[in-house]
Amino acid sequence: MITVLAGGVGAARYLAGLVQVVPPDDITAVVNTADDVWLHGLRICPDLDTVTYTLAGAVDAERGWGLAGETWRAVEALARYTPVAPAGSVAGTTWFRLGDADLATHLYRTARLAEGAGLARVTAEVTRAWGVGPRLLPMTEDPVETRLTVAEEGEIGFQEYFVHRRHDEAVSAVRFAGADRSHPGPGVLDALAEAERVVIAPSNPIVSIGPVVAVPGVSEALAARRADVVAVSPIVAGAALRGPADRLLRGLGHEASVVGVARLYTAVAGTLVLDQADAALAGDVEAAGVRPVVAPTVMSGPAEAAALARTTLVA
Ligand code: GDP
Ligand code: CA
Repeated sequence: MITVLAGGVGAARYLAGLVQVVPPDDITAVVNTADDVWLHGLRICPDLDTVTYTLAGAVDAERGWGLAGETWRAVEALARYTPVAPAGSVAGTTWFRLGDADLATHLYRTARLAEGAGLARVTAEVTRAWGVGPRLLPMTEDPVETRLTVAEEGEIGFQEYFVHRRHDEAVSAVRFAGADRSHPGPGVLDALAEAERVVIAPSNPIVSIGPVVAVPGVSEALAARRADVVAVSPIVAGAALRGPADRLLRGLGHEASVVGVARLYTAVAGTLVLDQADAALAGDVEAAGVRPVVAPTVMSGPAEAAALARTTLVA
């Protein structure tokens, strides 16, 4: 078994490479749930859904999330109610765009949660419906919420920052509310202990991998087998390929480079795969206590993703 710590888009692409090189049912992904939200009474799990839709071959490739060929009639119809919603109500929220077909996933998940099923169970049902081979495990079934401190205003929620404000705001602190009281989801600790190899996917180290590692027991499980935990840097040539990872790293006082990533991961990963563009920094990664492996890491297509997956297996 290979176990992968996963956020959304970067992890989904890596996993789509991994299923090409190892049997899909030998793969377990432990997925971030700290981005999850309640909206319109529905439970929305963006990273679980991104990974599911990508592995099902149903993702909108350009956006990287949501379903290909999606329509938006429901959210457009909802806009009628936005002006009548009283101050403080989120009932008419349309900035979080939910596609018509995507809504079905949230309806099903919410109904099953209301019937008393746990998120791990519901996720297994959803992935089965999509014919997804790898097992996706929510990092926890307990409420954990990423909260970000933005200048002057104070704390805001993850989707408010990421979607509504398009992560275009300086962040001075990040915390994972509820993490200290949370428990690893069903199967998570076994998947970390029993895997032949653990991979930390090229996901945002602060807001995607950070919450997974903050679940009590996870960092200890990784540290215990650190020598064969392999991380892939999401930072290439000092920048994130998409999203705010580089700005978040800087804002929180880290270096936005493979060296900054190595320092963040040094307690939990023995090896860091860094891009050829950063080959000159391999010595600094080593000095941070992490073994550097230099390889192409930009997944421009399925072949590149498969090659990166192979690298993480032999690194
Ligand atoms: P989110 O939950 O959808 O925001 O996504 P993730 O946290 O999984 O991924 C965002 C991170 O993935 C960004 O920091 C990107 O730089 C990184 N990423 C995306 N595609 C690639 C890729 O092809 N190669 C590498 N090395 N990193 C990538
Ligand atoms: Ca995410």
